[in-house]
Amino acid sequence: MIQDIAQYKGQTAVVTGGAGFVASHLVDRLLTDGLKVVALDNFVTGNRANIAHLADHPDFRFIEHDVSEPYSIDGDVAFVFHMASPASPIDYVEIPVDTLKAGSYASHHALELAKEKGATYLVASTSEVYGDPEIHPQPEGYWGNVNSIGVRSCYDEAKRYAEAVTMAYHRAHGVDTKIVRIFNTYGPRMRLDDGRVVPAFIGQALRGEPMTIFGDGKQTRSFCYVSDLVEGIWRLARSNFHEPVNCGNPHEMSIGEFAEAIARICEVELKVEDRPLPPDDPKVRKPDISRAKEVLDWEPKVSFDEGIRETIAFFKGVLEPV
Ligand code: NAD
Ligand code: UDP
Repeated sequence: MIQDIAQYKGQTAVVTGGAGFVASHLVDRLLTDGLKVVALDNFVTGNRANIAHLADHPDFRFIEHDVSEPYSIDGDVAFVFHMASPASPIDYVEIPVDTLKAGSYASHHALELAKEKGATYLVASTSEVYGDPEIHPQPEGYWGNVNSIGVRSCYDEAKRYAEAVTMAYHRAHGVDTKIVRIFNTYGPRMRLDDGRVVPAFIGQALRGEPMTIFGDGKQTRSFCYVSDLVEGIWRLARSNFHEPVNCGNPHEMSIGEFAEAIARICEVELKVEDRPLPPDDPKVRKPDISRAKEVLDWEPKVSFDEGIRETIAFFKGVLEPV
C-alpha cells in the first residue's frame, strides 16, 4: 500500500547528501510534489551546480554540513532520506574513512533525527551489499559475498552496517524505516570525472578519446535511469514495507557491450584502451526486481537509449557550456 502524495503536501523532508547526483533529483521531485525540503551536504563528492536552480525556491533550504557530525533541524519533519555517501569507486577508495563514517556515524545521526521527529527514515543502500555475487540475478534474500578487508570494503561494509543499524532502530525504537538497494544508476548531474563507467565512457567518446575498459570487459552491469530510481525511492518511502527493496533496471549488458552502445549513440568509432580490472570488481550484477514490482508496483520505464541520450546531452553542456 503506497500512501497518496497529496497527504504530504507542505510537510518537510530532510535529505542528506542533497547536492549529489541522485539526491538532487530526489529533492526536485519532492519539491514538485509540494513538500518542503531541507538538504544537507558538505560537497565532498557533490556539486553546488546540482542545487543552484533551487537557490530562490521558497520551500528549499540548504545547510552546508558534514552529516557524520551531529546536527539538529527545527520544526516537524515527515521524512529523513539518508543519501549522503561517496558512491563512485574512485571516490570511496580515496576517502575510505569518510565513507565508513557516512554509513555509520551519519546513519546514527539521521536515525536519531527520524526517531526524535517521528519521521519516516529511508537509507540509500546499494547492490554492493551483495559484493561479487554468487547468485544471479540478485534477490533481496541473498546475503552477499563481500571481502570485508578489500579496497571496496569501506563502501560495502559501511552500507551493510547502515542497513543493520536501520533495522536495529526499527526493531528497538519502532522507527518507520525503509532500505532501498540501489543498482547502477546514471543520468544528468553525474560528475564527468567521478570515474564511474557511464560518465567515463561518454566523456571519452565526446572528447574522441579511447574508452578505458577495465579487465576483459565481460563483467556485467544493469543501468537504471535516475528518474526511474527516484520514482522507486519515493514509492518506497510512502509504503509500509521495512525489508530492503532492490531498485534498478534488469537490462543487463557487459561493459564491452556498453562501450559499443555509447560509441553507437555518440556516433563515434569505438576506440578502446585496456586497463587492469580493479580488485574485487563484481563480475556480474543484475537486480531481481520482483519485490519492487509486487510491493511498490514499480519497474523502470526509461529505455537505455532514451536515458543515455539525455545523459549525453547533459555532458555535452558540461564540456561546451553555451
Ligand atoms: P554522489 O557522490 O553524487 O552523491 C553523494 C552526496 O553525498 C554528495 O553530494 C556528497 O557531497 C554528499 N556527502 C557525502 N558524504 C557526506 C557527509 N559526510 N556529509 C554531507 N554530505 C556528504 O553519489 P550518488 O550516485 O548520487 O549516490 C547517492 C546515494 O545513493 C549514496 O548513498 C550512494 O551510496 C547511493 N547509491 C548510488 C548508486 C548509483 O549508481 N548512483 C548506486 C548504489 C547506491
Ligand atoms: N569500468 C570500466 N572503465 C571505466 C570505469 C569503470 O571498465 O573507466 C568498469 C568497472 O571495472 C566495473 C563497471 O565498469 O566493472 C562499472 O563500474 P562503475 O565504477 O561505474 O560502478 P560499480 O558497479 O563498479 O560500482
